[in-house]
Amino acid sequence: MMYPKLKSELDAQKVELIAVSKAKPVSDILDLYKMGQIHFGENKVQELVSKMEVLPKDICWHLIGHLQKNKVKYIAPFIYLIHSLDSLDLYKTIDKEAKKNNRKISVLLQFFIADEETKFGLDINEAIQIIKFHQSNESSNIIICGVMGMASYSENPVKISEEFKSLKAIFDRLKVEYFNNNQEFKEISMGMSGDYQIAIDEGSTMVRIGSLLFGNRTT
Ligand SMILES: *Cc1c(COP(=O)(O)O)cnc(C)c1O
Repeated sequence: MMYPKLKSELDAQKVELIAVSKAKPVSDILDLYKMGQIHFGENKVQELVSKMEVLPKDICWHLIGHLQKNKVKYIAPFIYLIHSLDSLDLYKTIDKEAKKNNRKISVLLQFFIADEETKFGLDINEAIQIIKFHQSNESSNIIICGVMGMASYSENPVKISEEFKSLKAIFDRLKVEYFNNNQEFKEISMGMSGDYQIAIDEGSTMVRIGSLLFGNRTT
């Protein structure tokens, strides 16, 4: 699909587009940037950093893949949003690196909502443990902005919409019980090329779209 059409479709629904540029060259990113796109997502730290170094500095970079603790330091100086907070240990590392860089880092709690073993993510009790730690830690340099999740690869739209519904329900519960309806806790990152319209119907505020914009990946 052409970028301008997708972008205006999402703007009309007040949903943020994260253009997922993994495995694609910087020239592809620049093409979209010139059309006005500034939010880009990558799933590997090294690839994200090497692209960031050669691309315009006003791009907002999103880390959407699993993050290893020993790699946090490479993105801490500039990352715009980490979608994949999936452990308390990782929280502590991100907080420490944020402090070293004298900045705050925004994160999403990644939940496991699919029925596949390969997907990373928290369950509700692990998430509550992180939130309680966060809220007892008055000098945290982390901002918890919301939740992220991936649905199963499935042909069944009912199954996909049920998984997205479960993430929306988790978000609503956490927002009321732990964030006191705080406006900072506002993002639901769900939806990819194959299921973004279902995700939006279920309350997504941010979609992460790669192949629909850039073509299929060979890797
Ligand atoms: C690759 C990826 C996407 C985008 O997938 P497409 O199907 O190409 O749109 C979204 N989210 C995550 C976490 C990804 O790894």
